[in-house]
Amino acid sequence: MKKIAILGSTGSIGVSTLDVVDKHPEMFQVVALTAGTNLELLKTQIEKFSPVLVSVLTAEHAAQLDRMLSGKKPQIMHGVEGLIAAATAPDATMVVAAIVGAAGLVPTAAAISAGKDVALANKETLVTAGHLIMDLVQEKGVNLYPVDSEHCAVFQSLVGHRKEDVSRLILTASGGPFWSWSSEKVAGATINDALNHPNWSMGKKISIDSATMMNKGLEVIEARWLFDIPVDRIAVHIHPQSIIHSMVEYLDGSVMAQLGMPDMKGPIAYALTYPARIPAGVKPLDLTSLSGLTFHRPDPLRFPALDLAYQAARSGESMPAVMNAANEIAVEAFLSGRIGFAAIPVAIEKTMELHEPHALRTFEEVLEADRFGRRTARKVLKFEE
Ligand code: NDP
Repeated sequence: MKKIAILGSTGSIGVSTLDVVDKHPEMFQVVALTAGTNLELLKTQIEKFSPVLVSVLTAEHAAQLDRMLSGKKPQIMHGVEGLIAAATAPDATMVVAAIVGAAGLVPTAAAISAGKDVALANKETLVTAGHLIMDLVQEKGVNLYPVDSEHCAVFQSLVGHRKEDVSRLILTASGGPFWSWSSEKVAGATINDALNHPNWSMGKKISIDSATMMNKGLEVIEARWLFDIPVDRIAVHIHPQSIIHSMVEYLDGSVMAQLGMPDMKGPIAYALTYPARIPAGVKPLDLTSLSGLTFHRPDPLRFPALDLAYQAARSGESMPAVMNAANEIAVEAFLSGRIGFAAIPVAIEKTMELHEPHALRTFEEVLEADRFGRRTARKVLKFEE
């Protein structure tokens, strides 16, 4: 019986994780759950999975949740302290890190420090603090399993091979809803257009990141740390069918790929049970029903965010954390209707221009770079502090 804590249980990945868990009650026990503000869903999850500890965003949310529950209640905590308590819950052996954004960094680092294996969906953790996290993983001797479908595909395509024989990683990208749109049309995209992902059903922030292709940029940086490979040996191919989830090219020209229907329950289940495979509720792939698998180069003019991420990765040090923070501010601003779609990469680029990269030696320094990025992006966008 694997005892798990799920950080971000009310999100898209959190809900899919609980779906997988629910299919295998003999294999998993849920010991802790965390949410932000979706108390109704958290209440349903508590009633079904009986965690011993839960955490929500604020003290007010905690008090409200307490009033909503009856009978035997879990311990209810809130804020960063609650997230850390869930991430380090004594009984948990695995933590699913599925909070969105840089808010996932501190609890994920706490889980690793406490010696937990981590199923990592929160890519922003590695984007902002990749070298510190990977050093901590080594020091604590824990396993970090990728949940992102591309990284799970690379992970699977590396099994049984030697790292020194890898020539390139090829991350596939659906291209999001706009890959075939003209620049003019993309510039006028509405919130609903941008949220309307053709293949994946995901949280709002990652859906917008997919539309700008910043998501793929974040994944390039994530892959750089997970697989310890320079970013210039990580290529991105647009593959609109989202059937090949990513590939590894070897020195002899062989390419290993992982295929499957686009459903996050597959990568989640693999991360939870590696090296075993369990039925996860993913529809089998019927290759004969496909009209073809196609691949395209991303267009840097229509998707400047991908190039910005490569630039940030090459500058290294504090730049990816600053870029990530600027992206979070710009995406929030777009989702609240304050800026247009085309302003997102412009705000990120201007924020990056105003940053002098420096080494990050501690998690506190990462958080300081994150605060700088948020402050600067707000100034660039001329928002009141
Ligand atoms: P969602 O927005 O659907 O869910 C985010 C979760 O985090 C929710 O439980 C939310 O709580 C919680 N949350 C948000 N902000 C905070 C905060 N400040 N403090 C504590 N909890 C918070 O996101 P996704 O599930 O789509 O994505 C989660 C992560 O996984 C992201 O990093 C994303 O990039 C990555 N990922 C997602 C994929 C997907 O298919 N969705 C695929 C690959 C990676 P509440 O809703 O209760 O407020």
